[in-house]
Amino acid sequence: MPGKILIVDDIATNRIVLKVKLSSAFYDVIQARSGKEGLNSIQSQFPDLIILAATLPDMDAIAFCKELRQIPANANIPVVCISNECDPETRIAQLAAGIDDILTKPVDDLLLLARLRSLLRSRDTAEELRMREVTDRALGFADKKRAFEHPAQITLVSSDRAEVFRWKKELGTHTRHVLTGTSMKDAMRQLPNHVEPDIYVVAIDQNNTDEGLRLLADIRARASSRHAAVIAVLNDSDRRLAADALDLGANDLMPYGFGTRELAFRIEAQLKRKRMGDRLRANMRDGLRAAVIDPLTGLYNRRYAMPHLARMAETARETGRKYTIMLADLDHFKRVNDTYGHAVGDTVLVAVANQLRENLRDVDMIARIGGEEFLIAMPETDRQEARVAARRLCRVIQNLPIQIPGHDAALHVTISIGVAVGTTDDANHTTGARPDIDAILNQADKALYGAKSDGRNQVTLSARPAA
Ligand code: GH3
Ligand code: MG
Ligand code: MG
Repeated sequence: MPGKILIVDDIATNRIVLKVKLSSAFYDVIQARSGKEGLNSIQSQFPDLIILAATLPDMDAIAFCKELRQIPANANIPVVCISNECDPETRIAQLAAGIDDILTKPVDDLLLLARLRSLLRSRDTAEELRMREVTDRALGFADKKRAFEHPAQITLVSSDRAEVFRWKKELGTHTRHVLTGTSMKDAMRQLPNHVEPDIYVVAIDQNNTDEGLRLLADIRARASSRHAAVIAVLNDSDRRLAADALDLGANDLMPYGFGTRELAFRIEAQLKRKRMGDRLRANMRDGLRAAVIDPLTGLYNRRYAMPHLARMAETARETGRKYTIMLADLDHFKRVNDTYGHAVGDTVLVAVANQLRENLRDVDMIARIGGEEFLIAMPETDRQEARVAARRLCRVIQNLPIQIPGHDAALHVTISIGVAVGTTDDANHTTGARPDIDAILNQADKALYGAKSDGRNQVTLSARPAA
């Protein structure tokens, strides 16, 4: 999946040379001769990345980028500026305007292509997350409020202690973030009290490039650090090394002898990307949670409970250990609503849910599967154990005083419970089909009906083990 690249440069030979290089790497290339023309073609052509000359006849790269970034849809398009050697202040102003990287002429092909791959990869991630965010919003999952942004954790890694010390000191004057220095070996080993940094700045030692590159690959491979941003510091005359660092997952490069102010700037740019990713991932986790949790009681909902039950049945069949389910239903709950109102009914549901949860083991799964009906699934539990547990639940609910606002006396409710035991030798066993959870649910339901018709506030066990 190479992609479409827009070249904005008024010098025809520059455009042609670049187009040849990019086309041979299978990129589609579109061209513009001025800033205005470039900005216009973005609206109609949707390039994946922009390569920009530092100066154009009608505007410079900074003005171009400022105008580009004003449109939210263009926020994630990577921009690479190709420039003559320029002073540090100009570079910083270019980065501040939203240019992702500045390559100095003559541009090395290998490095350019690695840079494009790296930027396109980050852009794909950002776009993917943005798309999920749009979907999440459409599904009604609320956007996480942007909390106070804590200082970030930045880990400086080098095999040279003195160097780490010096960077820390110099960088400390340009950033409010928490800086930690560590050796290459400790970064690889991951010490026990290690705080996962938001950003790694990894110095790749010219005499031991393998070690540095291995750490980059390692950071990307470890689940805990996969989303960290990585800035590799290296000898930039080694183009092969720079290209390898980018391909192994470095998000950005700094040459040795860098200005610490520019590093501080690049850290901010990486941090912005990283935090956007963190925020979108957190939203997604909340969205997934919302899909399986009952908002009133905080218990699982039916959507979660059914596949969980199927898994439990499957495990029981594999291990040969029995499992049990209970259906618990509040007695005469309609009367509570009719007498005290729906809000009080809700309070009762929450109180009962909490009490049930507190009186079950961590391995038991409890879900609210209907208005005032709860499913409890208990692994490795036989008939006798289930009977004891169910009777205890009836008792604790009966004895639970529920305080109602505006009423002096506490409210008391009861539950009825139907219990069914899953066998491990069901008919599907030999065929290898999935265990049939409808059968056990049916039996528990019948048992519950029995408990109701026998007078409520009691436990009934299903006569037969269910498949
Ligand atoms: P039984 O002992 O036979 O189970 O009688 P019951 O009144 O509990 O059963 P019924 O099925 O007749 O009524 C259940 C009531 O639960 C009716 C409904 O208004 C109420 N209910 C269902 N979901 C909720 C809820 O989320 N909040 C509140 N407050 N009430 C609910
Ligand atoms: Mg009921
Ligand atoms: Mg009911």
